[in-house]
Amino acid sequence: MDKLDFINKELDRLKEAGLLINIRTVEGPQGAWITVDGKKALNLSSNNYLGLANDLQSKTASHNAIDTFGVGPAAVRTIAGTTTLHKILEQKLAQFKGAESTISFQSGFCANLAVIPAIVGKEDVVFSDELNHASIIDGCRLAKTRVIRYKHCNPEDLQEKIQVEKDIERKLIITDGVFSMEGDIAPLPEIVEIAEKYNAITMVDDAHGEGVLGRGGRGIVDHFNLHGKVDIEVGTMSKAFGVVGGYIAGTKQLTDYLVQKGRPFLFSSAVTAADVSACIAVVDTLNKSDCLVRKLWSNTGFFQERMKQLGYNLGITKTPITPVMIGDAKMAKEFSQKLFEEGIFAQSIGYPTVPAGKARVRVMLSATHSEKDLTWAIDHFERIGNSFNILERRFEA
Ligand code: PMP
Repeated sequence: MDKLDFINKELDRLKEAGLLINIRTVEGPQGAWITVDGKKALNLSSNNYLGLANDLQSKTASHNAIDTFGVGPAAVRTIAGTTTLHKILEQKLAQFKGAESTISFQSGFCANLAVIPAIVGKEDVVFSDELNHASIIDGCRLAKTRVIRYKHCNPEDLQEKIQVEKDIERKLIITDGVFSMEGDIAPLPEIVEIAEKYNAITMVDDAHGEGVLGRGGRGIVDHFNLHGKVDIEVGTMSKAFGVVGGYIAGTKQLTDYLVQKGRPFLFSSAVTAADVSACIAVVDTLNKSDCLVRKLWSNTGFFQERMKQLGYNLGITKTPITPVMIGDAKMAKEFSQKLFEEGIFAQSIGYPTVPAGKARVRVMLSATHSEKDLTWAIDHFERIGNSFNILERRFEA
C-alpha cells in the first residue's frame, strides 16, 4: 500500500462532504469590487474593514520604506532585524491602544503562538471560550498547558469552572474579542470581574475589533473602557489595518518579557520595512479621523437590517461580520457558487471552522462599499435566497 494513501482518502472525504476548500485567486488590489478568477465581483469576503489595503498613504509609506531600507529584514528581531521603523510602530501602537507598551510580530497568529507558551505551561490552566480562534487553540497546544473550555460568551460557566480550579496558582482566561465566525462580542467586563475575583490573568484577541470597535477603531478594551484591566491584548494588522502583522499590547514588563520568551520573535525573521511603514501610516490615518470607522458601521446597519427583513438568519452578530446561516455545508457551498456566478464574492464556511450543521456564507462588510453596491447585493440575495428556499426554511442558529 502507498504510504501516503491516507492523503487521497482524506481529500476524497472532504470533497464528498462538501468541505474541500477551493481557493479563488484575486487579480489586483483589494477593494469593494475585485477581479477574482477572471471575473469582476462585489467583494464581500475580505477583512479589509476600512478599505486601507489599497490606501494611497500606506502605499506611499511602503514605497519610501523600500527605497530607504530595502525589501528584506535579513534577520530575526533579536539579531539584526529590528529597525527604527519597528520601534516607531510599537510606540505609535501603544499610544493608539492606550497601553504602556507593545511588541510586534509577523502576524496575529504568531502573536498568539508567542504569548501563550510564554505565559503558561504544564502546571497552569487556561480557561478558553469554546469558539476561540485556531491560533489560540494552537498557542495552548504549544504551551502543553491544561485547557478548560467554557461555554461561548458565558461568564456563568466560566465562573463555575474557575471556582473548581481556584487553588491553581497561575490561571489564564483567553477570549476572542469579536468572534470571527459569529460576529458577536465577548462579555469582557464580566470576564475581567471574574478574573479579578480569582486573581487570573486576562487575555483578549482583538483581531476583528481592531479598527472596528471603540473610539476611532481602538478596539474592544476601549469599547468597554477597560484600559489597564486586561493584562494581554493581542492585535492584528492584517485585517482593518489592511497590511499584515500582529502585536501584543500590555505593560512594559510584559513586552520586555516577550522579547526574551516569544519564540516567533526570537526565531523567525522580522516583518519587512514596507509592511511596518504601511502599518505606521495606518495608525496615523486612524489618529486623524474616525470617518472610515463610522462608514463601516453605517454600512453594517444598512445591510444587516435589510437582510433580516428579507427573512435571513444572521445568527448573533453585533459587528460587520455577517454570517448568513444556511445549515448544510453542501448547500452553503452551492449558495456561494451561485452568488459568485452573479458577481458576488462571499465565501461559504463549514466544518471544522464552524460546527457541523451550522454552515454559512460569511459576508464581510467594509467602509469601501457604497449603499448602491449593498442594495445591488441585497437584491441578488433576495432572488437567490428564494430560489434556494432558504428564506422560508429559516435555519435556527
Ligand atoms: N485571531 C483571530 C481571532 C483571527 O480571526 C485571526 C485571523 N483569522 C488571527 C488571530 C490571525 O491573524 P493574522 O491573520 O494576523 O495571522
